[in-house]
Amino acid sequence: MLKCLIILNIIAKGGNMKKLKLLIFTCVILSLSISSVYAATFGYSNISGIALHQYDDYSSPITEILKIRTKLKITGEKDQWYNVKTESGEGWIEKYFVTVPAEKYVVNNTPYKINIRTSPASTSKAVGQLNPGDKAKYIDTYHSWNIIEYQGNECYTASWLTDLECENSQKIYILYDKTDIRDKASFDGNVIVQGNRNDSYEVAGEKNGWFKINLPNGQTGYVPGWLTGYSQNYYSGRNLSYKKTVGNLNIKSGPSIEYGNLRTLNGESLVKVVNSENGWDKVVCQEGNVGWCSIDSLKETYPLSGKSILIDPGHGGKDPGSISCSGKYEKYVNLETAYKLKEILESLGANVYMTRDDDYYITNKERGRMADNLNTDILLSIHHNSLNNSDYFGLSTYYNTINYKDPSYGYDLAEAIYLNAITTNGIYRDGILDRNYEVLRETNTPAALIEIGFMSNPNEEMNVHNESFQYVIAEKIANGIIDYFNNKN
Ligand SMILES: [Zn+2]
Repeated sequence: MLKCLIILNIIAKGGNMKKLKLLIFTCVILSLSISSVYAATFGYSNISGIALHQYDDYSSPITEILKIRTKLKITGEKDQWYNVKTESGEGWIEKYFVTVPAEKYVVNNTPYKINIRTSPASTSKAVGQLNPGDKAKYIDTYHSWNIIEYQGNECYTASWLTDLECENSQKIYILYDKTDIRDKASFDGNVIVQGNRNDSYEVAGEKNGWFKINLPNGQTGYVPGWLTGYSQNYYSGRNLSYKKTVGNLNIKSGPSIEYGNLRTLNGESLVKVVNSENGWDKVVCQEGNVGWCSIDSLKETYPLSGKSILIDPGHGGKDPGSISCSGKYEKYVNLETAYKLKEILESLGANVYMTRDDDYYITNKERGRMADNLNTDILLSIHHNSLNNSDYFGLSTYYNTINYKDPSYGYDLAEAIYLNAITTNGIYRDGILDRNYEVLRETNTPAALIEIGFMSNPNEEMNVHNESFQYVIAEKIANGIIDYFNNKN
């Protein structure tokens, strides 16, 4: 109906009453039919390995298993279920496992016209323009460009020329206690107030990975996106845990013995706990099924137990890596984040090595060979990006299939880490890329490299140096590593 009103406004301004009457008629018909059909919107799967079902019922057949951050077109809903379309099919999924971002608009707040392009590059074809003050529906961000809906197609506008605003009163939830809310969208803003876990605020917009929020006193504040979620999901933040079944076990359709059996799991089956209620755990099984088990029938497990991992903090010593816009060296931030990742991976049961644990130089060839010599299961190299264009931002991961390497030597790892990282609010997509990097080339161990953000972008530089950001991104990388190993089994 909103779209209809916009069209009506435009037509009304033109003064063509005949057309206007016809449109009102069409709009009434349309709104009648739309109210019974769900207005299609987009969401993303928020957990890996979750099944789509043929019907809104867990006992119905599985049509597809989704990776985390699969884009879902929501075409209908029934009780706690969404009917969704993916690139390859359709099915039903519980709303709990779908993140629906706030509806956002790209707004041209400059005094100039801004080009709407067919791909995320200044050299690509312009198919239209946003006049000063114009809005367009925002879909996503990719390669520092905003993807918008334009004449029914997905097109691109430069993110650095536009603002993101929200019109509806959708909410975000704070994930951690004592979260600072500031008066601008960066860490050099003053703290106005602090929020705690599960506090909710209306979203007014988004900037530099931060959310603009409406505070109860009528003021506006800014909070880092990565410290927020779009729902009060049990496992947003740090609550996702892995358990194993003690013996053969029936999973139930609800949290008590009264509910019916959905299926039987063998002893020692790995499950993800996604909720907990009255001594019952809600779990997602390796096959993508969901159900409830009594907590007595499950035991804690370390998901990375028996795995060995080599973390490579890029550069070091005489090689500073990128030098940020404010003069900071990449080699230090690589090491800071690597240490946080090491701690998290060890808490998940992994045996972790580092190519360097201090500020000294080693060649990339030595780093690659070290993984082979230590016989680790994987190698992950940690970097931060830089470009001679400060507008650029975003997270990317890399693998190498050049020199005849099989994609299994890194693509799966690069993809699992990327998909987990970009589920985080305020972390933007810059792609999964095949590159002949020496550290990836000079090893026979499955290897990936991550560029966490751009040191050359003043806002992203401030974000990547922040402790909370480093901690959250290290957690997401760890989740990606767990997915990588689980997918192999
Ligand atoms: Zn680097």
